[in-house]
Amino acid sequence: GTPTALMVGSGMGAEKGILIRNGEAVQTFKDIKVIAFDKTGTITKGKPETTDLLPAEGLSESDVLYAAASLENTSEHPLAHAIVESAKSQEIKLGEVTDFSAIVGKGVAGFVDGERVLVGNRKLMKENDVDFKHQQDRLVQLENEAKTAMMVAKGNKLIGVVAVADPIKEDSKKTIAEIEKMGIKTAMITGDNNRTANAIGKKVGISSVISEVLPDGKVNEVKNLQEKYEVVAMVGDGINDAPALKQSNVGIAIGTGTDIAIEAADVTLVKGELSGIISAINLSTATFKKIK
Ligand code: ADP
Ligand code: MG
Repeated sequence: GTPTALMVGSGMGAEKGILIRNGEAVQTFKDIKVIAFDKTGTITKGKPETTDLLPAEGLSESDVLYAAASLENTSEHPLAHAIVESAKSQEIKLGEVTDFSAIVGKGVAGFVDGERVLVGNRKLMKENDVDFKHQQDRLVQLENEAKTAMMVAKGNKLIGVVAVADPIKEDSKKTIAEIEKMGIKTAMITGDNNRTANAIGKKVGISSVISEVLPDGKVNEVKNLQEKYEVVAMVGDGINDAPALKQSNVGIAIGTGTDIAIEAADVTLVKGELSGIISAINLSTATFKKIK
């Protein structure tokens, strides 16, 4: 009967690094029409590194890094870590930060040694009347290289551009190709800008890219996919992914991600490797063939 089959199924999963928390999920896997992936930490390693540092005229790299890293030292964001790490590697001592604030989907703001500093994307700079027209071509170029470009401003003057790249996980491309081969569509949902998101989507062969989504907008994107495709799986690792994982028909958490995502999910990919999804689909199909 079903209970035995489920137990067998779950046991087989554990061997392959798939932890099934909700038995029903095993059944749903075989009916999935689309799999939506978070980008950072799911398709990519979630460990971005600084790749480009472009100071404004008359300034040095360390001027820009000092201002940016001092402020980002208060942020938990992977982008912030990349900037702080590169300041550390250059032995730059960080300044004193007051009035720090994180602006969701846009960046960070605060005072470094009493001077107003901003680090973030175009939206943040526009909101604060920082002119970046002269850097627009550079930003576009960096984004087409799949990098996330951030601007650094002091007061309302642009003092530099910092770009980071987050390496793609070894098995992302292969897993996505296999999923598509099974006739299941793939999508990526990210807060990152459209150009960077598309460059990464192209590298891994994702069929649809949904970008510039605010953290609380991911759940709505899953609902939209459900209207179109009915049975939707969501894969994610972050705190912000938890509501979307709950909303989806099968929530899949990355085992190396946050506890909140794991608790919200039906299935955990223990080792953080996306290829576990293929095993889970095969497991579901095989298990429910047996008990028919
Ligand atoms: P994701 O998790 O997909 O990267 P987020 O909503 O966290 O999406 O971030 C969206 C965008 O907001 C980033 O690509 C970046 O441009 C900007 N941003 C967010 N946090 C920071 C930060 N700490 N420093 C600079 N920029 C940031
Ligand atoms: Mg993530």
